[in-house]
Amino acid sequence: MEFCIACLISVLLAGYSTGQLYKSRDEFKVKIIDYCRTENCEKAQYSYHRNSCRGPNFWSRVTPCWGRCSSFRQSPVNIITDVTRYVPHGPLQFSKFCDRVDVQLIHRGFVPHFRVDRDSKIVMCNVPNQGKQKYIIRDVHPHLGRRETRGSEHAFDGSFYPMEIHLVFINSRYRTFREAMTRSGGLAVIGVMVEIEENKKGRRSNRRGYTHQKNSCRNVANCRLKSATRLSHLMVKYFKKIDKEKTNSKNEMNKTFTADIGQAISLNEILPYDLSYYTYHGSLTTPPCYETVQWIMMRCPIKVTREAYKALANLPDLQGHPLSKYGTRRPLQRGITDHPTVDVQRNFLCKSSGNRRDVCYRRG
Ligand SMILES: [Zn+2]
Repeated sequence: MEFCIACLISVLLAGYSTGQLYKSRDEFKVKIIDYCRTENCEKAQYSYHRNSCRGPNFWSRVTPCWGRCSSFRQSPVNIITDVTRYVPHGPLQFSKFCDRVDVQLIHRGFVPHFRVDRDSKIVMCNVPNQGKQKYIIRDVHPHLGRRETRGSEHAFDGSFYPMEIHLVFINSRYRTFREAMTRSGGLAVIGVMVEIEENKKGRRSNRRGYTHQKNSCRNVANCRLKSATRLSHLMVKYFKKIDKEKTNSKNEMNKTFTADIGQAISLNEILPYDLSYYTYHGSLTTPPCYETVQWIMMRCPIKVTREAYKALANLPDLQGHPLSKYGTRRPLQRGITDHPTVDVQRNFLCKSSGNRRDVCYRRG
């Protein structure tokens, strides 16, 4: 008896410290309550490891303040384009669309963030279903998966892209992201799907999981693909720097990497040529999963270089593993068999050919 208790204690302690894996779901359920759960919301940690006690399927049980992670308006979702509703919201409007802004790159071992200063004054208006509210950009970050064929968080008609970039805007009524995320209408997030641009030899990947469904209302064949060359450049330069620095300081995996990048990037260098979108009401895709996000999913993707994709995939996580080991995408929450209902609107007609022009012109 003593032996068994000793065994149990050692196994459970190991589980507590490392996010132990459990063989059966029932076994796991019992143990997570005591050993992965913390009452202190500030100290709670999450993981993208599917079988970990802190993995995406169990976020709602890790700490009391994350209970909404299993609620009904969660993101990401699968957008079934043929059942989306046309609503003439008109185009999104931006100030300083072509101006490059200063950012601070922050990597803590999860998703790397390009944090934009509030004083950048990059404002988005005409946000669907939010009236005259103004939104200010605060953050740009990419998501990727364990496999190249499934890297985006959202899906269109069940198809994923290698990456998805989120541009996070906060309602100008609020001072900080933390304040805005708890308020209704507090956040608007633009999601951009990202393809990988093959190298000059024109090598075509046969690992593409996404498909362009010609007959669906997605109509992606009309998209003129934008090469996000500036974004690719920043990803390669700075993500490689993080990789090097973290590798050189093996005992400091928890250390936050930061770098100030002046005149880093403009909205025009991230968003596709065609700004038509799908939109729905959803949540943050990380804990604490507040359901305060007006999601704006761009119909057309952009593309980054393979080198940029690799630089992201190789970034070290908290344990020093490459990010691609577990990925940084939350599984679909709605628009799938178990949870089919998502009310998604679109601001374009299915047969429209879209806007294919570049709106920024280089000076001089
Ligand atoms: Zn995100």
